Amino acid sequence: MSRSFEAQLADLRSRSLLRRLREIDSPQGTVIESGERQLINFSSNDYLGLANAPELIAAAHEGLEKYGVGSGASRLVCGTQSPHLTLERKLAEWKRTEAALSFSSGYAAAVGTIGALVRRDDVLVMDKLAHASLIDGARLSGAIVRVFPHNHIGKLESHLRWAREQSAETRVVIVTESVFSMDGDQAPLAEIVEVKKRYDALLLLDEAHAIGVVGENGRGLADKLGLSSEVEVQMGTLSKALGCSGGYICGRRPLIDVLINRARSFFFSTAPPPALAVAASAAVDLLSSPEGERRRQNLLRNVKQLLLDAPHDLLPHTRLQSAIIPVMLGDEDTAMAAAQWLLEQGFLVPAIRYPTVPKGSARLRITLSAAHSPEQISALTDVLTNLHLRRQEADAEQA
Ligand SMILES: *Cc1c(COP(=O)(O)O)cnc(C)c1O
Repeated sequence: MSRSFEAQLADLRSRSLLRRLREIDSPQGTVIESGERQLINFSSNDYLGLANAPELIAAAHEGLEKYGVGSGASRLVCGTQSPHLTLERKLAEWKRTEAALSFSSGYAAAVGTIGALVRRDDVLVMDKLAHASLIDGARLSGAIVRVFPHNHIGKLESHLRWAREQSAETRVVIVTESVFSMDGDQAPLAEIVEVKKRYDALLLLDEAHAIGVVGENGRGLADKLGLSSEVEVQMGTLSKALGCSGGYICGRRPLIDVLINRARSFFFSTAPPPALAVAASAAVDLLSSPEGERRRQNLLRNVKQLLLDAPHDLLPHTRLQSAIIPVMLGDEDTAMAAAQWLLEQGFLVPAIRYPTVPKGSARLRITLSAAHSPEQISALTDVLTNLHLRRQEADAEQA
């Protein structure tokens, strides 16, 4: 095969795997502007509707006025500006851990942290559906990687048993998510913690899609289940429910100090803009306020409405576990056609394909926000019902 860029693109196109950028000329919100069109947005991870919230915009303005735009260099090189330390104090207080460290993205938090935790002969035991940032961190770390089928405790345990038979020095780290990003289901955390303790492993739990959404004050699943103290490395992102940008790790002080010394994505990258840290601090405050609770209740109401009203055949296995509702369609063509049809009806619902999900498990990924109105949810269920009818008709014609 020719190795030109054109040939690479043609190959992707022929497999329905080509991606394109869609220009949006408005803030994130439940209605966005794309070209001449307004679309109802069910594609964003802005679960609490904070990305364009006046409270956060005001905080960012204040931060800009006081600290300017850029941060100058890595925090170890040119000094750490106060907003980053304030944010980390607030994160630790909110998560009830000793300390926290913020990164420029969740991706950077994952890659840097895994690299700092393990070395060549250590073992990472990961869920098959773990996010790409965790997979990339594992690959870069050079450690031994063992993958268990999604949420499969038996296979997790056999990997742990194997890992424990290596040298006594081997560090064993379980890496998983509390709410899975493309499936919206939860990890069996109590069982994971139980085997973790038995095999003396550490647990890195990525709560990217749980924080802000699950548990009291949106502290996530570990806290909701009373297991927070069993999770040594508590990862999350500021980019989703918190409406900002950035990632974090919460945990004990010595862990955070190891990351400051060893996480390459932390110290070989310029600190995020201080104004962003001011905005993120405001978002953390908001999570623990009555306003945060009000938004979580609205989100819950919206998820319940969608699960109750959408055609059951489209969502046969979905239980109320998160704000992510996948509509499993199978092949990439079908998912692309469905997303295109929804777009023509005025709804932005992305088709998720390989390599984000395994080949042949393409899907629509609906994400709900506290900011959606009941009318917007009804409009979506109507259009999903029509989609379902169209699929049934197409199947009948083929039969
Ligand atoms: C989005 C996501 C990340 C990366 O976070 P960013 O802040 O977007 O870089 C990490 N883990 C999971 C599970 C995610 O969904």
